[in-house]
Amino acid sequence: MLKLYNTLTRKKQIFKPLKNNLVRIYSCGPTVYDYDHLGHAWRYLSDDILRRVLEYNGYKVKHVMNITDVGHLTSDSDTGEDKMEKTAQEQKKTAHEIADYYTKIFFEHRKKMKMLVPNIICKASGHIKEMIDLIKILEKKGYAYKTSDGIYFNVKKFPKYGKLSGNTLDKLKAGARIEINKEKKHPADFALWKFSPKNKKRQMEWLSPWGIGFPGWHLECSAMSMKYLGSSFDIHTGGEDNIFPHHECEIAQSEAATGKKFVNFWLHARFLTIENQKMSKSLKNFYRLEDIEKKGFAPMALRYLFLTSHYSSKMNFTWQGLEASQNVLNKLYEAMADYKKAKRICFESEKKFPRAKIMENKFFEAVNDDLNTPKALGIVWNLIKSDCPDSIKKSCLLKFDKILGLGLDKIKPRKIKISAPIKKLLQEREKARKEKNWQKSDEIRNNLKENGYLVEDSLQGQKISKIKKLF
Ligand SMILES: [Zn+2]
Repeated sequence: MLKLYNTLTRKKQIFKPLKNNLVRIYSCGPTVYDYDHLGHAWRYLSDDILRRVLEYNGYKVKHVMNITDVGHLTSDSDTGEDKMEKTAQEQKKTAHEIADYYTKIFFEHRKKMKMLVPNIICKASGHIKEMIDLIKILEKKGYAYKTSDGIYFNVKKFPKYGKLSGNTLDKLKAGARIEINKEKKHPADFALWKFSPKNKKRQMEWLSPWGIGFPGWHLECSAMSMKYLGSSFDIHTGGEDNIFPHHECEIAQSEAATGKKFVNFWLHARFLTIENQKMSKSLKNFYRLEDIEKKGFAPMALRYLFLTSHYSSKMNFTWQGLEASQNVLNKLYEAMADYKKAKRICFESEKKFPRAKIMENKFFEAVNDDLNTPKALGIVWNLIKSDCPDSIKKSCLLKFDKILGLGLDKIKPRKIKISAPIKKLLQEREKARKEKNWQKSDEIRNNLKENGYLVEDSLQGQKISKIKKLF
């Protein structure tokens, strides 16, 4: 039974798809005007775990992610410059070139972090028609009005505004700063369409029934999610900074247009801090994946570090924490390399280890409890420390890794180099066993053990492995 914390109801709830066995998820993607940083990696990892857990539960997942390449202004309240156009000007490139470049890097980073690729990746600039169509519906239903700089959504017509973030219209009006745009009917009204400035030609602008311009930022996510997932779908994800105003506005314009509930579950990842400080350009702590790699850490160590925190608690990145994660991950890989050598033992013998089954159940209980990966990792180490046979540990870990995504399936079995004296001892033992000289055979086994080797007898003969001190 899968439970997820829903920002909308502020409760952990049992998850069930709206339609049959299919789970439809929409994730707010990046605005591709700059390099993605560790904050993005943290936020998107929770989507990746969510998807893997849903698939483990037997659901089919349709995952859509957008790429914002137009309309996201430097201020979330529809003022300031377009982030894409600003960077294009600074770098003397076209907005499309900027978008393509940073999108490519973003997906390279995701791949290195072993994040699954969304089923549909959609660019805002490729869905202008859908956005215009949505504004037309809102206009027809009386939710939109025109000012001198654009078409706005009238929040007063949507009394449920604030249901996600708690920022209700009364609260917003009372706390509103002096409104720059005096033509707005309420401070929370937001742009559906912005007109191009009269004195300046934008790189990205389109003809609309209201005039040449570009879509408001919030609009793209409503238009694209509903195009690919239908007017009501299961899960919408984002970072906690998306809750307001972005997601609140998405709900308002989508539900106003369709008259239906837009999304059933809203999941938000909390912020990431760096050494307990907010990431900021001035503190020079906007670390990218390359910065991690330059210091000799594997992207998988970062994934491991992120798995040690719950997505809905604050993630504090420290270099010390990353180093510790790299060490623990190496131990996990070493253990797996040993287990990979183990032959699967027969079903009857597996039955003798009900503890493995119990741990397996506990692992899936943990991830099904609102994606509790820190707890799940604890169970991984309980299993490794247990007396279960290697073959069982191997099969359990491979199952767990379908969710953890640490690449355990790619770990090669450990090959051990055996020195000539050890080889000789093994031959002597083989001979003793043939002669049924059990005492000598045991003596040699103890001798090997003192030298750090474990010998097990199987149908195929003696099996030797190095005794490792993991702890
Ligand atoms: Zn969005």
